Amino acid sequence: MIVITASLTLAACGGADDDGRNLVDRAKDGQLRIGIKFDQPGLALKKPDGSHAGFEVDVAKYIAKQLGVNESGITWKEAQSAQREELIKKGEVDFVVATYSITDKRKKEVSFAGPYFVAHQNLLIRANDNDITGPESLNAHRKLCSTKGSTSAQYVKATYANDVQLQEFDKFTDCVTALLSGTVQAMTSDDVILAGYATQYKGKLRLAGKGFTDERYGVGLRKDDKVGLEAINKALHQMQQDGSWRGSLETHVGPSGYSIPEPPAIAP
Ligand code: GLU
Repeated sequence: MIVITASLTLAACGGADDDGRNLVDRAKDGQLRIGIKFDQPGLALKKPDGSHAGFEVDVAKYIAKQLGVNESGITWKEAQSAQREELIKKGEVDFVVATYSITDKRKKEVSFAGPYFVAHQNLLIRANDNDITGPESLNAHRKLCSTKGSTSAQYVKATYANDVQLQEFDKFTDCVTALLSGTVQAMTSDDVILAGYATQYKGKLRLAGKGFTDERYGVGLRKDDKVGLEAINKALHQMQQDGSWRGSLETHVGPSGYSIPEPPAIAP
């Protein structure tokens, strides 16, 4: 009877893998499951050999290291935009580093450390398209692609819903494919993400116009894990201080021509 009660309590705490300990204590086992994007060149890309590379991969590894977990102890899990809150709440990942904007709505479900980067929503178009110069040039004849569960889709729906036909996919790369093939005329997401695709398809795709929102990227973790939150903030601060933050951005994002901003102030 006691055993049954205990397992029910654990299940109620948020999933089979969530044993109720804070992040710092869980990391003492030497293993972490980290949610990350798999299809964003420069930020977090899963390569054909199964390895992961990019600025966000470096951020995740840096945090893990500060928590005492080496790269060999990390299990990478794909965290598509619409899945991030659920992955955290169900205890399927220990934290998420996945171009995850800090918003009040999301803060009701998860906690955010950071921000560790500030990006701006923008448009990606075909390189030879001279008609689209910004979101205001989108109209009812144009099809725009975005990813489900992203702030980009929400913003466009709220601001330009009457002017443009929005198509939403789970994966960023599905939007890129649709844009290359001409099924849609533009894709909207954060400039730093789009810059990676513009580099991958140089001469075929380019960014249009100026950024039109501020997207403060946070590390998502279980709501109310104050100890975990503080530990991640400390790691992010140190990553900025010792030069690793800028070094990683210069290596992975710099080649796209994206101008590396100053690091944002991390919430205390
Ligand atoms: N940063 C935005 C968001 O968190 C767009 C990018 C994404 O969905 O990963 O929704």
